[in-house]
Amino acid sequence: MRKPMVAGNWKMNKTVADAVKLINELLPELQAQTAVDRVVCPPFTALYSVSELLKNSGIGCGAQDLFWEAKGAFTGEIAPDMIAELGEYVIIGHSERRTYFGETDESVNKKVLAALSIGLTPIVCVGETLAENQSGQTETVVTRQIHNGLKGLSTADAEKIIIAYEPVWAIGTGLAATGPQANQVIADYIRKPYAAMYGDVAAQAIRVLYGGSVKGSNAAEFFGQPDIDGALVGGASLKKTDFMEIVNAAA
Ligand code: PEP
Repeated sequence: MRKPMVAGNWKMNKTVADAVKLINELLPELQAQTAVDRVVCPPFTALYSVSELLKNSGIGCGAQDLFWEAKGAFTGEIAPDMIAELGEYVIIGHSERRTYFGETDESVNKKVLAALSIGLTPIVCVGETLAENQSGQTETVVTRQIHNGLKGLSTADAEKIIIAYEPVWAIGTGLAATGPQANQVIADYIRKPYAAMYGDVAAQAIRVLYGGSVKGSNAAEFFGQPDIDGALVGGASLKKTDFMEIVNAAA
């Protein structure tokens, strides 16, 4: 049995003051929902303040990216151990990073290995663009992202990572995939190639989340699918009532 997980990706939203306010609003209800693993991923500037508020709360804290090098002359970058001091999770390969910041399967792989080596749990995003979807390339693109982005893991790490299937055309657009559509991609183009890489045990152990315009009103459709273990939530993670509706729907 895989425990459901709902992770909020705040993207480039919330000052420290706004982040503290939202966490204080969320905490009582979020803490009460122990049937779901709950994670928040604030921007780097708010990570310390949020992590302090979440200490011993049972709620996970994560970053939205990291760099693979341990330290040195990499202006603007954040090292794995800097994140590991403050949280347990890190989102890697989000489509916005692939689209706007040149992230590739190769850089995703380096980041995944660096995160795992310091004990962070990566939430690795994969998904096809609208053009790729419409030209019938979903399988090619998603399986390539899995093969190239997730190679070289140890057996223990292969059973611990989290994958988020986020069709790019559904992120922040209000156009969610249907539950069965997302489930089919996850079963056939994510778990199946992953099983070929790391075996059935690992492919059945890992949690695969859906992401892309998840809201309280459509969350149950995804959570009712056998291969979907929760959600990575962008826009709807920025307000207490919206986020709690989704978290509670996953229970
Ligand atoms: C995301 O940022 O990972 C995401 C899925 O965004 P949204 O929920 O806003 O579509």
